[in-house]
Amino acid sequence: MERHDDAMLDVRGLRAWYGAAQILHGVDLQVRRGQVLALMGRNGAGKSTTLKALMGLIDKRSGAVSFLGRDISRSAPHEVARLGLGYVPQDRRIFSDLTVLENLEVGRQNPRQPSDAGALPVWTPQKLFELFPNLGAMRDRLGARMSGGEQQMLTLARTLMGNPCMVLLDEPSEGVAPIIVEQMAQAILELKSHGVGILLSEQNIFFAALVSDRVCVLEKGEVRYNATMDEFVANQEATKAYLGM
Ligand code: ATP
Ligand code: MG
Repeated sequence: MERHDDAMLDVRGLRAWYGAAQILHGVDLQVRRGQVLALMGRNGAGKSTTLKALMGLIDKRSGAVSFLGRDISRSAPHEVARLGLGYVPQDRRIFSDLTVLENLEVGRQNPRQPSDAGALPVWTPQKLFELFPNLGAMRDRLGARMSGGEQQMLTLARTLMGNPCMVLLDEPSEGVAPIIVEQMAQAILELKSHGVGILLSEQNIFFAALVSDRVCVLEKGEVRYNATMDEFVANQEATKAYLGM
């Protein structure tokens, strides 16, 4: 039985609405220090909505959300970010008229070391260029002149400049070349080894299986399946039913 008291992020009964339309119907999930949880499910299942609701980007929401022991169920996005929850949205948002290095500088925040998150890496552009060699090779390139996958990497790297304890990552492999997907997976494993928790919204089971410890599958805004990633990958009935593979 998984203990929940040591969860970095503990979500109970999360509900969210866009206008009158209820999208999330009570999502429960937990992510621990150094754990990668894949949030899977088909188009429109509610993955992005879950991440947005956790970040405080959806006004109409309810449920209990605790991050590092604090109640963030009613917090504004800047408050959630300041506590150390990083967010990489599905639509990449780099500054196209800034260079790679300048984009990273924009994301810089003071290091934080909350006692309950343990020792975490303090990121610098130099360390991030080691983590993402591709970015290191193009540090003076303008954002506008990067491929979609490189922009995706830069978005993650810029989020890391804020020294988050945990990252919400929305479909990082979507539309990205295999070589970049591979580097992204390496970067996630490296973050994990530093104790950073990751909630990864993903449809690509091959990518999810490379990096994830556990999986929650959403269907119509509800968690329908929750298991270790190994169990899910081995369960053809489940992968077919939930992902249509
Ligand atoms: P995908 O894999 O395509 O990114 P997803 O699992 O992230 O899908 P969401 O983007 O969370 O799915 O969408 C869940 C539901 O909410 C869908 O029915 C979608 O049409 C609806 N929805 C998403 N954004 C909005 C919005 N801004 N206003 C109204 N409805 C929305
Ligand atoms: Mg989405």
